[in-house]
Amino acid sequence: METKYKIGIDLGGTKIETIVLRDETPIFRDRILTEAGKGPDHIFNQISKIYNQALDVVDTKHFTVGICTPGSIEPDTKLLRNSNTTCLNGIAFHTMIEDRLNHSVKIENDANCFALAEAILGAAKGYELVFGIIMGTGCGGGFVFNNQIRLGPNLICGEWGHSILHPHGNDCYCGKKGCVETYISGSGIETRLHNYNLNYSAQEFFNKSNKSDLEIKIYDEFMNNFGRSVANIINSIDPDVIVLGGGLSNLSGLYSQGIEEIQKYVFSESFKTPIVMNKLGDSAGVYGAALLK
Ligand SMILES: [Zn+2]
Repeated sequence: METKYKIGIDLGGTKIETIVLRDETPIFRDRILTEAGKGPDHIFNQISKIYNQALDVVDTKHFTVGICTPGSIEPDTKLLRNSNTTCLNGIAFHTMIEDRLNHSVKIENDANCFALAEAILGAAKGYELVFGIIMGTGCGGGFVFNNQIRLGPNLICGEWGHSILHPHGNDCYCGKKGCVETYISGSGIETRLHNYNLNYSAQEFFNKSNKSDLEIKIYDEFMNNFGRSVANIINSIDPDVIVLGGGLSNLSGLYSQGIEEIQKYVFSESFKTPIVMNKLGDSAGVYGAALLK
């Protein structure tokens, strides 16, 4: 039988958010500061504190706990890697948090939690094969089939942000060159702007109403890179829906010019894939964490 109560914890760099779902309805929700600068022990204390508050509304011993965090657990060493809460990298986060909470815990990265939450409760509800894309400071993907996150033998399913879009292209932190993430993310567009001595943020750039010829060129290039990289997903797995999240997903041009660009590179005359805006916004992480099983 499906567990009635589900506790989700979204561990972010600045705040830790918690939700309790009873039959997919939220009955408790709160947040606390991460205060990551005070170190791992303090972060564990903060998680425990908000977790104990959540437990107060759970009147049974049968419940699940999920944590959404950037980064992932390295499959061989079981250590956390690539978290932007960098003081947690290299520690046995999974074991330590289970010991601290005295309960089994599922852990997934933010893109997978996003895709799961949107598939079950959000804009991708009712679709069988869902690909979720987070376009924020970085760019990540998550793959959900029949409301289950697909991980794969290397636990990298959906890590399309690090597939190569332009060989010999931009340097990526992962050590490769030309990764999707270095083109269609906030940091990617800012690097491109800096190349031309345009020193403003991605948000300012996209909001700017009167763009110069150079800025229009950079904008079109961004849309073209978006189209190529999303078409690569469609040509590979032909998902039933693609749902966009993260700060850049509010960019209305993605749903017009962006879709036209995708169409250019899709290996099909007809193009039916819905490319949709998320419904859960910033809450997808905490909902996705709660829905992990
Ligand atoms: Zn990369």
